[in-house]
Amino acid sequence: MSETFDHGGGAPAPGKSCGTCTMCCKVLQIAALNKKHGEWCPHATPGKGCGIYADRPHECRKFHCGYLSSNMSEEWYPLKSKIVLMADATGGITAVVDASRPDAWREKPFYPQLKAWSRELLGAGKYVVVRIGKRAIAVLPDQDFDLGPMEMDEPLVIETAPGPAGGPIYRARKPDPGYALRAGAAPASIKKE
Ligand code: SF4
Ligand code: SF4
Repeated sequence: MSETFDHGGGAPAPGKSCGTCTMCCKVLQIAALNKKHGEWCPHATPGKGCGIYADRPHECRKFHCGYLSSNMSEEWYPLKSKIVLMADATGGITAVVDASRPDAWREKPFYPQLKAWSRELLGAGKYVVVRIGKRAIAVLPDQDFDLGPMEMDEPLVIETAPGPAGGPIYRARKPDPGYALRAGAAPASIKKE
């Protein structure tokens, strides 16, 4: 089943609720609490909820993950999938994965859907990135690029080169000059989008 990611962000979609999920209280960074990626919030009771619900920070109040704010199927419920979907600043998709199941995103139906979104979004200059703690993996149509530790707001550079069949091949890198190509093509053959 092909899923439509529509991160309205403002409110849960009709019929959706967090239920007993507290996955975002683990995998996301919460600046107001000085909480890092992948660490349980001290106020969270896994499987139950927030211990300071009435007084939770604004960051928590305004957050609705992609599952919650769209009509995505129950397979994507973060408590089970271990994947919290969110829109990035450019309208791309970030899939934040629970480090206790770091390969969850590679499973079906998640991986084929991430690839489909990647194909869909690249034409509009938007990307799909998997995050496991601070580790970032760019999911591109033809291959994936493990970029290692990156900040959430650190920009990603996507480059294209002509592929053997005539269509483009894509590569991702950090925007630093020390970057080493992982796909084996000579840098001179790469052109930036
Ligand atoms: S990850 Fe999504 S469904 Fe789970 S608690 Fe957070 S907002 Fe709710
Ligand atoms: S304050 Fe509450 S809602 Fe916010 S991360 Fe902690 S447990 Fe979750």
